[in-house]
Amino acid sequence: MGKPTGFMDFPRELPLDRTPTERIRDWDEFHDHQDDSALRNQGARCMDCGVPFCHTGTLIAGMASGCPVNNLIPEWNDLVYRGLWREALDRLHKTNNFPEFTGRVCPAPCEGSCVLGISEPAVTIKNIECSIIDKAFQERWVQPEPPPFRTGRKVAVVGSGPAGLAAAAQLNKAGHWVTVFERADRIGGLLMYGIPNMKLDKQAVVERRVKLLEAEGVKFVVNTEVGVNYDAATLEKDFDAIVLCGGATKPRDLPVPGRELKGVYFAMEFLTKNTKSLLDSNHTDGQYISAKAKDVIVIGGGDTGTDCVGTSMRHGCRSLVQFEILPKPPNERAGDNPWPQWPKVYKMDYGQEEAAAVFGADPRQYLISTEKFVGDAEGNLKEIHTVRIEWVKDATGRFAMQKVPGSEKVLPAQIVLLAMGFLGPENPLLEKLGVEVQKLPNGTHNAKAEYGKYQTNKKHIFAAGDIRRGQSLVVWAINEGRGAARECDRWLMGETALV
Ligand SMILES: Cc1cc2nc3c(=O)[nH]c(=O)nc-3n(C[C@H](O)[C@H](O)[C@H](O)COP(=O)(O)OP(=O)(O)OC[C@H]3O[C@@H](n4cnc5c(N)ncnc54)[C@H](O)[C@@H]3O)c2cc1C
Ligand code: SF4
Repeated sequence: MGKPTGFMDFPRELPLDRTPTERIRDWDEFHDHQDDSALRNQGARCMDCGVPFCHTGTLIAGMASGCPVNNLIPEWNDLVYRGLWREALDRLHKTNNFPEFTGRVCPAPCEGSCVLGISEPAVTIKNIECSIIDKAFQERWVQPEPPPFRTGRKVAVVGSGPAGLAAAAQLNKAGHWVTVFERADRIGGLLMYGIPNMKLDKQAVVERRVKLLEAEGVKFVVNTEVGVNYDAATLEKDFDAIVLCGGATKPRDLPVPGRELKGVYFAMEFLTKNTKSLLDSNHTDGQYISAKAKDVIVIGGGDTGTDCVGTSMRHGCRSLVQFEILPKPPNERAGDNPWPQWPKVYKMDYGQEEAAAVFGADPRQYLISTEKFVGDAEGNLKEIHTVRIEWVKDATGRFAMQKVPGSEKVLPAQIVLLAMGFLGPENPLLEKLGVEVQKLPNGTHNAKAEYGKYQTNKKHIFAAGDIRRGQSLVVWAINEGRGAARECDRWLMGETALV
C-alpha cells in the first residue's frame, strides 16, 4: 500500500457523467474519465485493510458480496497509486478477461463490501478498473495472444454472451480449437442486444474484444441457432466437448386482460430492435419500436427496466412512469442488511436521472400492481389500470400481496414495456441435446449442473452463465464461463492449468 493515510487525505470522487439533458440527445456512452493524478488519489484511498472483503465474491442472503471474479483489487489500487499502469493491467487480466465490460456495467458488489465503506464512502473500485483497461487499450498494450501450441481438441461454445466469450477465451488459451455459435447476427449476447449502447458501446468496446479473440484463433459463427438451423446431433459428433452459454432470456409475462393489445411489448423486443436498428442504419431503417411522443409505462425495475427508461428518453417519449412491485428502499442500509452484504438502498440509476431531469421527478412508483390494459376500437393500447398493494404476512409467515381498497388508478399509455425478469433458457437447445433441466420454486428453470463443476448429465456437455444460474450479472457470467472452461479442459486433458 503506497499511501497509508490516503483514505483520510482524499474524499471519494468519481468523474462527472455527461449531464442527463445533454446525453439523451445521442446514443454515445455517458461516462467520462478522470486524469491520472485524480485516479492515483482514488487508488491511494485503498487502505490495506488486512482482510479485503472486496475480492471475496461470495453470496450472502442471495446477493453478491465482493467481486465474483475475485479481482485482485487492493493490488491494482496500489499499482495505480504508484503509476505502474502496465503492471496493474497484468494483475487485472489475471482474473478478468473483459474488464472493459465490467468496468462499465458491473453494479460493483466489491464496493458494497469495501472495508473503508463501513465508516466512509467506499473506494471507487469499478471506475479504477475501467480506467486501467481503457488506458491499456489507448496505449496499445492489449494485443492478441494466440496460444503457443494446439491440443487438436475441438470445443463448441453455444452462445456468445459474456459467459460464452469468457469460456472461449480460456479454452483457446489452453490450446483447444474453439468455435462459438450464436443465433443472433452479431456476437455479444446481452452485451450486444440487451444492455444499450450508451452504457456499453457496441463497436468501440464489444466488437473490439471480439476482434481480439478472433485474432487469437477463436472462430465465430453467427445466425446459427443450435437445435433449430444447426443440428444438435451434428454438434455432438463434430466436437469433443460443448459448453452451453445460451443465457436465460425467456421473459416473465403479465397475463392480465388486454395483454394482447398493440403497444404492450416485452422489454427485450424493444431493446434488441432499438440497438439493431441503431447499428444497422443509425435508426434510419425505422425497424424499431419508437417511443417518440408516446406515454410510456415500464413495468419492473432492475437493469432491464432502467435500460427501457433510458432508451425511451432518447426516443423523446411524452411521459414516462416506471412501476415497482416492491416498497421504496431506505436511503441507508437497514438493520437486517449490514455490511458486507450488497447494500439494498435507494439510488437513482442513469435512466431515472434522465427522466427526472426532463419530467421533474424520479419516474418510479412503488407498490403498484397492474390490473388490466385497455385499448381503442383498433386494438391499440390506450390506458393502463393499476392498484396500490401492500405486502402482508400470511398465516404461514410468508409475505403476500394485498390490494389497497380505493387506490385504483388509470394512466394513459400507448407503450407498455414488460421488464419483470426472466424464467430461464429458451427452447429447444437443452431438450435437443438431452440436457437435464432443473425447476426452481420461484417458477424459473435452468440447465442442471453444479456450480464449480458445470458438467451436465451428459459428461462432454458443460453449462455456464445465465443458462445455469438464471438471469444474473455480467461478472457472474464471466466467472462461470472461466470456471466451465477450466472443468472442460480438465475433462479433455485429465488436468488443467486454467484458473
Ligand atoms: C436489458 C438487460 C440489461 C442488463 N444490464 C446489466 C448490467 O448493467 N450489468 C450486469 O452485470 N448485468 C446486466 N444484465 C444481465 C447480464 O446481461 C446477463 O446476466 C449476462 O449477459 C449473461 O451472460 P450469458 O453469457 O450467460 O448469456 P447472454 O448474454 O444472454 O448470451 C446468451 C447468448 O446465447 C445465444 N443463444 C441462445 N440459444 C442459442 C442457441 N440455441 N444457439 C446459438 N446461440 C444461442 C443468445 O442469442 C445470446 O446471444 C442485463 C440483462 C438485461 C436483459
Ligand atoms: S468486476 Fe465488478 S465486482 Fe469485480 S472489481 Fe470490477 S466492478 Fe467490482
